[in-house]
Amino acid sequence: MTAAGAPVGGEARVPAPDEFHGWRAGDTTIAAVQERIGRFIESRGWPVFHDPKNLAMSIAIEAAELMELFQWVESGRSDEVASDPEHRRRILEELADVMIYCFSLGHRLGVDVAAALDEKIVRNGRKYPAVSGDGPGAGSGAGGLG
Ligand SMILES: [Mg+2]
Repeated sequence: MTAAGAPVGGEARVPAPDEFHGWRAGDTTIAAVQERIGRFIESRGWPVFHDPKNLAMSIAIEAAELMELFQWVESGRSDEVASDPEHRRRILEELADVMIYCFSLGHRLGVDVAAALDEKIVRNGRKYPAVSGDGPGAGSGAGGLG
């Protein structure tokens, strides 16, 4: 056995979908996330409830729960509010809920979510070309990301 409990020379045990995986952004893949969420759903017999309509509605409902955390907050203060530890914990929880339902819909539809993201970002790039110099959105102005 290794220090991590995996048999030497054998396959490591695949953790149950509701066990802590210790994931960090650089340590996992979109495929692993989608597979884990699929196992979570199937191990609870939820596919009967997870039709595309219900999952699309669930994405919107969880997005509304995320928005509720910023309701009545002046836009200029939303970063400050998001940096409050308790508020931040709740934001991350709702953000995860939104993403879980997004991956659930991808799982239900049998689509490659990474490919969908890739295609959509390319389309967005064509629709909203990058600006350089002092054009709209350049630098630190409203809407600018760089
Ligand atoms: Mg929620």
